[in-house]
Amino acid sequence: MPNRKIFIAGVTGQDGAYLAKKMLTEGYTVYGGVRRTSSGIYHRLNDLKIADKINYVEIDLADQESIIRAVKDTQADEFYNLAALSFVNSSWNYPAYVSQIDGLGALYILEAIRAHSPETRFYQASTSELFGNTQESPQTESTQFNPRSPYGVAKLYAHWMTKNYRDSFGLFAATGILFNHESPLRGSEFVTRKITLAFARIAQGQQDLLEIGNLDARRDWGYAEEYVDGMAAILRNGIADDYVLATGRTNTIRSFVEIVSKLAGFDLEWNGHGKAETGLNRKTGKTLVKVNPEFYRKAETFQLVGDPEKARRELGWACKTSLQSLAELMYRADYDRVTANSVHF
Ligand code: NDP
Ligand code: GDP
Repeated sequence: MPNRKIFIAGVTGQDGAYLAKKMLTEGYTVYGGVRRTSSGIYHRLNDLKIADKINYVEIDLADQESIIRAVKDTQADEFYNLAALSFVNSSWNYPAYVSQIDGLGALYILEAIRAHSPETRFYQASTSELFGNTQESPQTESTQFNPRSPYGVAKLYAHWMTKNYRDSFGLFAATGILFNHESPLRGSEFVTRKITLAFARIAQGQQDLLEIGNLDARRDWGYAEEYVDGMAAILRNGIADDYVLATGRTNTIRSFVEIVSKLAGFDLEWNGHGKAETGLNRKTGKTLVKVNPEFYRKAETFQLVGDPEKARRELGWACKTSLQSLAELMYRADYDRVTANSVHF
């Protein structure tokens, strides 16, 4: 498919960077929606060596005019809305702003497509946080939503708007309800990357210990590069619909810490309980992990684990990377960055 134009809002984020790489590899023209920054340096795109291959378009999801201009001028075949304030915990610090960007921002794009480029296919980045405190497990496309944070509520608004523009105006508007997906490009405030970076530093004598929140929280973690394949499959399907992308497995933060500490060469021994729990280096008795209540969530979600059966059946999509391989990939990348003194995000 030569000359296909792909617009990625949020191209500087984890998923945006991997999706841009995929689309460039497939020979498409990539427009990357970016917020202006004072440095103009896009570290993830540099990491993937694609920063100079993207056509940048300045947008801000808070600014409707910038969205209209971008949609009208590019007339993209596919528009992926991956832009968001994506850190759940922070969404309590600025709930109105999160509602504006993660909620209304999607509406601005849908409205611009409806009015100015109705043939553009639209992908909305929905999330397992829509399910929040739902009591059904595993979660499917028809599980009841019950968000637990301003982030989840804002994303639910965007999710329903996408479905309503599809139903009411016949737009090709689809969503991917993605469960957590991680990679060496994940932001270091998220727990997996926080853990791999901390142990890479501890192993090289640059950090004493890892301070962590709820060790018994669970997540369904997949590998981000595989999830962007799923996004493209959703938009290239015969019909616009909603799909859960997940691994179907669930693990505790504790087990991820154990995997990574082993990769770093430590034999970890847990001591104490709850907020007083520590993880010791069995060999030396030194504390490597310490629970800090500051990192606990205001409201934890119910056990989030997705059922990706519909995506497997209708899109032929499945997550193949094991948690062990994912942890290895992330730890090795962080180890090398720490060695090279090049930790930028
Ligand atoms: P990141 O946080 O890594 O990236 C978010 C992107 O959004 C960045 O490019 C950021 O730009 C951009 N952005 C933020 N605010 C604005 C704004 N006002 N205007 C324009 N762009 C903005 O997220 P991920 O790549 O991990 O996630 C991609 C999408 O998928 C997000 O919508 C996220 O909520 C959703 N999601 C992610 C999951 C995951 O596990 N990763 C799970 C489920 C859903 P800048 O670089 O300038 O900050
Ligand atoms: P989220 O699922 O999008 O909120 O992704 P995070 O990686 O931020 O959090 C995943 C889970 O890890 C949540 O249940 C957190 O409570 C838990 N967690 C435990 N300790 C930490 C920590 O130190 N930082 C973060 N970000 N999460 C932590």
